[in-house]
Amino acid sequence: MPLDPTRVVDRLGELRALTGDENGAQRVAWTDTWARARAWLADWLSDLPLEVERDPAGNDWYTLRGASDRAVLIGGHLDSVPNGGWLDGSLNVVAGAEVLRRIAEEGTPPVTVRLVDWADEEGARFGRSLFGSSAAGGSMADPDELRKLVDRDGVSLPDAIGAFGVDLDRALDARSQLETAAAYLELHIEQGPVLESMNLPLGAVLGTFGVERWRITWTGQAAHAGSTPMDQRRDALAGAAKLALAIRDVARETGAGAVCTSGNVTCRPGIVTSVVETAEQLLDQRHLDAGKLASMLARAQELSRGFAQEERVEVAWDRIWNIEPILFDEALIELADEAIAEVAGTSHRLPSGPLHDAAEVCRSGVPTVMVFVQSLRGLSHTKLEDTKPEHLELSVAALDRLAAKTIARVARGS
Ligand SMILES: [Zn+2]
Repeated sequence: MPLDPTRVVDRLGELRALTGDENGAQRVAWTDTWARARAWLADWLSDLPLEVERDPAGNDWYTLRGASDRAVLIGGHLDSVPNGGWLDGSLNVVAGAEVLRRIAEEGTPPVTVRLVDWADEEGARFGRSLFGSSAAGGSMADPDELRKLVDRDGVSLPDAIGAFGVDLDRALDARSQLETAAAYLELHIEQGPVLESMNLPLGAVLGTFGVERWRITWTGQAAHAGSTPMDQRRDALAGAAKLALAIRDVARETGAGAVCTSGNVTCRPGIVTSVVETAEQLLDQRHLDAGKLASMLARAQELSRGFAQEERVEVAWDRIWNIEPILFDEALIELADEAIAEVAGTSHRLPSGPLHDAAEVCRSGVPTVMVFVQSLRGLSHTKLEDTKPEHLELSVAALDRLAAKTIARVARGS
């Protein structure tokens, strides 16, 4: 049977009915509903000649053996946030299953093809995202931190995953799964407004943004709002306010998708009758280019020192968290562009703001690419998350073409 994209949309509807309620998808990892979704997938694929395996990190693998052990991987995640959407994660798994069926029915492929359903991408229950893929990719460096995590009901992470046969001490053994991987492909909803605003169904993803998160503390002098003349104030909020506006220009001048956000300013004493003595400001900067990200940070710091001088206040910067940009494979981006252009006429290249399992696989050294399909109104992690059925069908066709091109490329050994 040839590829049947409408079957993917039907199947996604079936999964939605099986594992959702009036508030949305309820496939939270390490719960019975999640297990039901995974059993449903296994059942759907049971008539194909696949090797089925759950690895030590709880990832489910469906392997179609090819003439060569070198493997092309297609991955996604069936888990969702509570009250989540019907497509985030599951689109990639269900579309990947349809592609695997198409390939299996054509006989033995030249290289091995594997579908992976990653365990706990969302981290909704314990606050730790990308559990299964970070174990397989080898970046899970914090098992002792993970051991301490408990959910809202007081259940510990080791107990919750133990119920699914996963032992934290052995989770990193999942690394062996990527030893034969030659390429990793992931289709996902965009979860943002870019493709919709360009009126395009699909885009090839360049990589995931690097992020710099900082706490900036401005220190001035509390003084009476009535008796302190304007020219004698040391107003900490004035520095924070100038920076909050200036970072918009920093992002605009940097361009190429640059974003800067001042997400909060907390003022003390925080009363109507006093000049602000301390203003604690949060800053988030993101870019796909590590050099540009570094220069945006340097520029914001330089501006802040100028504002501090103008306002006669002190400024101090403390890093909260950062991650480097993760760039996908250029040759695979090229193939994704071709596949998208073939099914949709036009392709567009864009970065990903959110992290995905693909970032962990890419970081571990496996050539990786993602395809985004338009999200209506840019919404996700809500029951309002949606994509037009015709766009979903195009996305399945694009993933299938991309898989075929990647298999041919890996088979040629290039
Ligand atoms: Zn996702």
